[in-house]
Amino acid sequence: MSEGKPDTRLVEAGRRPEYTNGIVNPPVYRASTILFDSVEAMEAANPPRDGTLHYGRSGTPTTWALCDALTELEPGASMTRIFPSGSAAVAAALLTVLEAGDELLMVDSAYGPTRALCESVLKRFGVSTRYYDPMIGAGIADLVGERTRAIFLESPGTYTFEVQDVPAICAVARERGLVTLIDNTWATPFFFPAIAAGVDISILACTKYIGGHADVMLGSVTVKSDLAARLDQTRRVLGQTAGPDDAWLALRGLRTLALRLRQHQENGLRVARWLREQPQVARVLHPALDECPGHEFWARDFTGASGLFSVVLKGGGAAARVTLIDALKRFGLGYSWGGYESLVVPADPVRTATRTEYEGPIIRLHIGLEDPDDLIDDLSAGLASYPSG
Ligand SMILES: *Cc1c(COP(=O)(O)O)cnc(C)c1O
Repeated sequence: MSEGKPDTRLVEAGRRPEYTNGIVNPPVYRASTILFDSVEAMEAANPPRDGTLHYGRSGTPTTWALCDALTELEPGASMTRIFPSGSAAVAAALLTVLEAGDELLMVDSAYGPTRALCESVLKRFGVSTRYYDPMIGAGIADLVGERTRAIFLESPGTYTFEVQDVPAICAVARERGLVTLIDNTWATPFFFPAIAAGVDISILACTKYIGGHADVMLGSVTVKSDLAARLDQTRRVLGQTAGPDDAWLALRGLRTLALRLRQHQENGLRVARWLREQPQVARVLHPALDECPGHEFWARDFTGASGLFSVVLKGGGAAARVTLIDALKRFGLGYSWGGYESLVVPADPVRTATRTEYEGPIIRLHIGLEDPDDLIDDLSAGLASYPSG
């Protein structure tokens, strides 16, 4: 277990010699069947546990190393389980804590597929969802009812980047006996160790910054000790497992997470500050800028900002946004983010509990590791087509 500072932990975490005989990067172990020498040895491998080969679905040294590493990045955590995508991780985390008849409090700025899960499978299985204002803070106490079981946070919010008062919401949850879950994909535990901030369950789309190279689909759920057995059971009975090549790519990505995130932060802020000065831009929704809702919580609780933020355009409309995006040459147009490359998407937030008024259409940018001057030139050319004011 690495006890070092965050950068040191990224280097040391998960590297147990008993898993890999001292090989620095665990090899890709591909396995379904594991052969035992005797019935006694086979029985001794039950129930499945990390560090003892049992059957491919229960993991191998490659996946255990990644689970250990992700646990070590979250002070106060006791276990991590990995899943074939971030969305699968969100689903497994919710299925770990909810049962029929429960009510879930879900942040209104949540990732679209998370909302879709609530409105389909969770609803069918008797769980109702109530959406709350991302800026609610301690006011969440007023929404807690008899059937409320859990509060789901995502900070900052998808597309609109509201930073939540996580400690205040968690304090209410503890007092009322509720479980808190957070989608911590934007900051990762490197910029926001969520469990130390009071959250019970921290979820990552490792597809994004952990992998970091736009070539892996993977998710993780990290929990405190009281939820470990239940998370492990949920993963096992749902038959969830992640491929060893993907786990290996995530482990490799993890080692350079600090360097990449700091550069995404520097480049992102440079582009965000430039955008803020442009006549076609009404607002830049970047947690490190003071015009972003909840900026004060970012400044208090986070140690950095990643490279993803939104830009609210001034006036214009859907057609003008299409022209702007299609004019960009360096920004790729595609889903996901967190790789080394810059991306743009049109962003249309969905809200049901809160109203949000914006001055014009929104685009979301992921600022990659290119020279920010080149990105600014590209945006400058794109914005030239946009009707300002
Ligand atoms: C991408 C994303 C997910 C889902 O991850 P996948 O690996 O694409 O399924 C979940 N939450 C957030 C905030 C995301 O951006």
